[in-house]
Amino acid sequence: MDETLPTATVRTRVTVPLRFPDGYVTTARVHTFHGLVDGREHLAFGLGEHADAGPPLVRPHSECLTGDVFGSQRCDCGPQLREAVERIAEAGGYLLYLRQEGRGIGLYAKLDAYALQDGGLDTYEANLALGHGSDERDYTVAAQMLAALGVDRVALLSNNPDKAAQLERLGVTVADRVSTGVHLSPANASYLAAKVTRADHALDLPFVP
Ligand SMILES: [Zn+2]
Repeated sequence: MDETLPTATVRTRVTVPLRFPDGYVTTARVHTFHGLVDGREHLAFGLGEHADAGPPLVRPHSECLTGDVFGSQRCDCGPQLREAVERIAEAGGYLLYLRQEGRGIGLYAKLDAYALQDGGLDTYEANLALGHGSDERDYTVAAQMLAALGVDRVALLSNNPDKAAQLERLGVTVADRVSTGVHLSPANASYLAAKVTRADHALDLPFVP
């Protein structure tokens, strides 16, 4: 582990049965933490049993209230979260639920960015127009949580090269990268295309060369 990473410790661990709207059920071991650098209430969901010798499957998922809870069609966060829970439950690992809405700019600013996107900007341009970075997410707390859980090598479930690069810099060995599925809908097509063309996400979209 990176010696400069501040130490966090597990604060509580509770078992929570999960049932998703499509009927999928599993059980999570939900962890809370002391010592996370930003003071926010991030969670680690331990899922499945990690039996083999390889690294656990880990997905850092950034909170998206509109997509995760309300099924917003403007992004693919809800389907990505649902897919990640099932895949991690099968392989054994952790879903890190990070409280950094709107790529780190917050919920209200994300909705302001939607308004700008309705005027023609893409999701990254809209954040910049609001005076934010195109992506302000920081994975320091993800690395802290993994260290507290005793995990220093992961199979990373993500299409986002920035997540892998940040975790490596923070001392987490990304031994394998596992892509998520493509959750395309008419309402999120331009959003997904921007992820590919602006941030090099590894998504196979039929309309992006
Ligand atoms: Zn979203």
